[in-house]
Amino acid sequence: MFEQNQKLSGAPAKKIVIVGGGTAGWMAANLMAKNWANKGFEITLIESPDIGIIGVGEGSTPQLKGFMDSLGISEQEWMPACNATYKLGIKFKDWSVRPGFTSYFHPFPAQPDDYTAPAFFHNSYVRRQGVDVQGHPDHFFLATHLAAQKKSPIASENFPFEINYGYHFDSTLLGQFLAQFARDNGVKHVQATINDVRLGAGGDIVSVVTEGGQEISGDLFVDCSGFRGLLIQQALKSNFVSFGKNLFNDSAVVVQTPGTEELESQTISTALKYGWAWKIPLTSRIGNGYVFSSSFCTPDQAETEFRQHLGLQESDVAVRHLKMKVGRLEQHWAKNCVAVGLSQGFIEPLEATALHLVQETVEGFIDAFEKGSFTDRNRAQFNNSINDRFEAVRNYIVAHYRVNSRSDTDYWVENARNEHLSSSLRSVLEAWIRGKNISDELDRQDIDRYYPSISWNCLLAGYGLYPEQHQLKPGNELANKYDLNNIQDFIHRCSLNFQSHRDELNRMMGS
Ligand SMILES: Cc1cc2nc3c(=O)[nH]c(=O)nc-3n(C[C@H](O)[C@H](O)[C@H](O)COP(=O)(O)OP(=O)(O)OC[C@H]3O[C@@H](n4cnc5c(N)ncnc54)[C@H](O)[C@@H]3O)c2cc1C
Repeated sequence: MFEQNQKLSGAPAKKIVIVGGGTAGWMAANLMAKNWANKGFEITLIESPDIGIIGVGEGSTPQLKGFMDSLGISEQEWMPACNATYKLGIKFKDWSVRPGFTSYFHPFPAQPDDYTAPAFFHNSYVRRQGVDVQGHPDHFFLATHLAAQKKSPIASENFPFEINYGYHFDSTLLGQFLAQFARDNGVKHVQATINDVRLGAGGDIVSVVTEGGQEISGDLFVDCSGFRGLLIQQALKSNFVSFGKNLFNDSAVVVQTPGTEELESQTISTALKYGWAWKIPLTSRIGNGYVFSSSFCTPDQAETEFRQHLGLQESDVAVRHLKMKVGRLEQHWAKNCVAVGLSQGFIEPLEATALHLVQETVEGFIDAFEKGSFTDRNRAQFNNSINDRFEAVRNYIVAHYRVNSRSDTDYWVENARNEHLSSSLRSVLEAWIRGKNISDELDRQDIDRYYPSISWNCLLAGYGLYPEQHQLKPGNELANKYDLNNIQDFIHRCSLNFQSHRDELNRMMGS
């Protein structure tokens, strides 16, 4: 039970202590300040001046727009301050070796898809029945076309459809921007390293103690201390569930390279021998990283391959090596502590979902908190809903590895053979392979709110998970129900309403 329940529901002491000043800490601080600062809550964020932030995490889903909008922060304010760019989706290169399917684009959903996605669903279904129709997702989505042309997702004023998009940004600058915004909105910022966590008789956290001996007490503690999970894992011993059995990657090597005049509006994810490399364009530079499995190669081997991939000599620039703890807590909210960010878990960054999970966790917690009753049932509901989201993201990411068709290393072969699949993922893959409509399967499992049918279809069709070309029969009129020329024409005409990504960002910055 939450010991200070009385105080929280009544007054006077409503002290929230956030430990950690990475992106998760400052996102939590801002959302909590927005909801509670004018209700008499006191929010303090403690950040160690000696332990740095992870300093990676430069891609988002469209959810981040909702976060900024909810705080009333415009793109004109935050994007230039964080060297940010727009993101229409992710291009996956070399994950599949099937002819004609060595790359595909995973678009964020957008309104014009209503006109083109039915044709894609139809074709991907018919091709799985063994009929030779166009089944590659890249032919069906406006976002794919815009990204290929390095256009921005911001339409001219008269364009009647909404486009969803995410962002790329410098994570250090974003942290600094959010820190200033939080301080301006009343969040108290303490720079100190915590070296002790004190628990009360019932097991709740009573206070944290800094290296300098200052004791900071609170009613509610938010653990944003990164992978170390200082409060939730170390002090409260919340159990950590590893995802290592079906997500092998546990390491990354990162480096920044100079920017280019032409600016991509997509993340590029290229499969390498022991994992995959990201390329994230910012206005100031490019962020690159290679996420790999240390069970299949050494960090030195990964670094050598990564440098070759980027065309970088050893003398050019230093790289940074990182370890990743992949999995999730069993309980994200335990006692009077909620964990947010890397402390609550991490799924490798293939779909850039970590900040999305941060936002969902904080918003979900605020909802639960507002309901006011800190019962075990309430806490369990919250934990289940966060775990469901973690598992849904995990399934979608695992699918990328399970359906790969590379055979150049044991890493890829083992991934394709891996039988550690959840029953949910197994059913989705079976539905696809048996030629069924997978939207029905997603509906049946009620999981299309996490990844919609378009995402699953793009993934499986994008890898070319179809009968072999020689097994396909020519398409008849029924199979070719949708005229691809009309679709291409519609997409092309829509795209005339968008300008180049670089021009759009220059316009925003007034140059
Ligand atoms: C290789 C890699 C790539 C990623 N790519 C993406 C991506 O593209 N998109 C995405 O959304 N996410 C991505 N992420 C995840 C993303 O980086 C994190 O979710 C995000 O940065 C939030 O981190 P955090 O705030 O939880 O932890 P951190 O940034 O590690 O911050 C921890 C904070 O806790 C403080 N702290 C720790 N111990 C103490 C102590 N004893 N006393 C006081 N303070 C303490 C530190 O000072 C620091 O301020 C990636 C992660 C990795 C590893």
